[in-house]
Amino acid sequence: MRYLGRPVGATIAITLVKTHPSAGEIDFMATAAIPTIPTIPAFAFPYLSNTDDSDLSLPRGESPRIAGSGLQVLVVEDSPFARKLIEQALFGQPYSLIFAATGRQAVDLYVQHRPALIIMDWMMPDLNGLEICRRLRSISFEAYTHIIMLTGKRDKQSVVEGLQAGADDYLTKPFHQEELIARVAVGFRTVELHRQIQAKNKTLEKLALTDPMTGLPNRRAIDEWATRELSSAARNNFSVWVIAADLDRFKYINDTFGHNAGDEVLKHFSKILKAYTRKSDLCGRLGGEEFLIVMTHATRADVEKAAERIRTEFEMAPFEFSGCNMIATSSFGVAGFEANSQTQPSFATLVSQADAALYQAKRTGRNRVEVASALLS
Ligand SMILES: [Mg+2]
Repeated sequence: MRYLGRPVGATIAITLVKTHPSAGEIDFMATAAIPTIPTIPAFAFPYLSNTDDSDLSLPRGESPRIAGSGLQVLVVEDSPFARKLIEQALFGQPYSLIFAATGRQAVDLYVQHRPALIIMDWMMPDLNGLEICRRLRSISFEAYTHIIMLTGKRDKQSVVEGLQAGADDYLTKPFHQEELIARVAVGFRTVELHRQIQAKNKTLEKLALTDPMTGLPNRRAIDEWATRELSSAARNNFSVWVIAADLDRFKYINDTFGHNAGDEVLKHFSKILKAYTRKSDLCGRLGGEEFLIVMTHATRADVEKAAERIRTEFEMAPFEFSGCNMIATSSFGVAGFEANSQTQPSFATLVSQADAALYQAKRTGRNRVEVASALLS
């Protein structure tokens, strides 16, 4: 970047007009009050011999970044002079600026840096501002990007088109520096509110899918996950297994030792479930003393072994409640299908088959693992 190095005093105003060579748009007309800029660039003095502003264009193949703190602003502007004015306007603000001189560069930089805010010119050599807006809005990122259209197009129809294309705000050239600063700040406020709402939504979503007592996924989470896994199993031919688990004589524990003891048993069983299943399996609590384990990419023998291990560990690991060592037991029913199976029942069918096997385990003495009759035939 080269300046003449001509120092200026306090507040000055410059007015410049430059006509766009192709579109005929008044591409640049800025009235800028510049309070603290130490030097004025060469192009501000047309009467001087060296008025070529080509030294302000982007270096080939790269996008210059101006040091600043975290908040990124992508400036999409083909005119080097306009870029410079925006840079000057935001000078001293807590933003780091990235520049794009073409529409395609804007899309690339957006994907690469995901800036929180974009200042977008309308008339560009390749894609126009409307097309860029539409393209950016079609790329889905979690974090919101606020787009300010900054253009010489002043008619109301253009304002409407810009906003409809995905811009959040519309500013016309010549722009007022303080107004640009204020609108950028408004943009960042919007982005921050968006971020807070997203964070809250995520927390609520997580709560809606979690059993508060054990921290395990609840029935809704299990349904959603298992449905996804089953449709993937249909495409990719892998095995899916459902284990219905139930604590034995849970009502007796609750009635004899109180609900706090019952809660402790549920938490204790959940810990064992998590400890003795793979991360890729899903263990959830359906409600009461009923649990469900969904396993994929395993053989029937592996699944039976896993259920047997959980059963044994739970039986062997007494837990303490009110100074007493207590032992509880659990029963299991296994249903599912192997990889490359001819028939792949629905999740509801698998759950009812596993439930029937669990009932069989209860009926034949509890504290055991039974396999669904569909697997035995
Ligand atoms: Mg332009």
